[in-house]
Amino acid sequence: MSVVELTDVRKRYESGGETVEALKGVDFHGDRGEMVTVIGPSGSGKSTMLNVIGLLDTPTSGTVRIDGRDVTDFDGDELTEERRSEIGFVFQDFHLLPMLTAVENVELPSMWETDVDRHDRAIDLLRRVGLGDRLRHTPDQLSGGQRQRVAIARALINEPDLLLADEPTGNLDRDTGATILDEVTRLKNEEDVAIVAVTHDEQLVEYADRTVNLVDGEIR
Ligand code: ADP
Ligand code: ADP
Repeated sequence: MSVVELTDVRKRYESGGETVEALKGVDFHGDRGEMVTVIGPSGSGKSTMLNVIGLLDTPTSGTVRIDGRDVTDFDGDELTEERRSEIGFVFQDFHLLPMLTAVENVELPSMWETDVDRHDRAIDLLRRVGLGDRLRHTPDQLSGGQRQRVAIARALINEPDLLLADEPTGNLDRDTGATILDEVTRLKNEEDVAIVAVTHDEQLVEYADRTVNLVDGEIR
């Protein structure tokens, strides 16, 4: 069973009397222990596809399944709950809160949980990404690669089945990118998550188990 499955997904935007069909019948799946990269030219629908997979946007038609459950007709609250419990996000520009320490940033997505283990889990995750000696540092005291490691630990705090990444290596130099990708590959197997990454980075594509090419709203 796939962690995420899109079946014949279409997405139309209406703006200023014009209709844009950003996704034109996309079939896609991401499985546990697999990293899939999504590539394609600007405007081909990559962000739209990532937003649909991340339950941030709903398709005009078609079906979205998470862990085999059809979530297409979920309402906003149900989608938020599903997103919190099953999906972690990593961004190009890290999206860390500047006034919080590394460990506080990692704990943040689990603050609504009463689980007393979250602090220990945050520390454990930071140790596993090599930041055991940077727990109390704030983002401005960390390098770009260290910030992205914090963001990856944060994305994993709720033990998601699915990790979504938008140009995760976009702000990193090649060597730092390679180190991060080695860690992500290890964590992918340890945590048994599915990873879907939108990217232009050829190095990231080399690390992928599978790549799909989106052209004008269709997978080619
Ligand atoms: P990519 O991420 O590959 O650059 P996008 O998914 O951002 O592509 O965009 C795909 C198409 O959908 C483009 O033609 C874009 O202009 C259009 N589009 C995306 N978001 C919106 C929106 N909110 N309203 C109207 N059109 C949109
Ligand atoms: P953009 O390049 O379009 O400004 P970002 O890289 O900031 O986009 O984010 C990519 C997508 O992820 C956006 O479409 C946005 O809606 C979504 N997003 C941004 N911040 C968050 C967040 N904190 N949690 C979940 N989704 C987010």
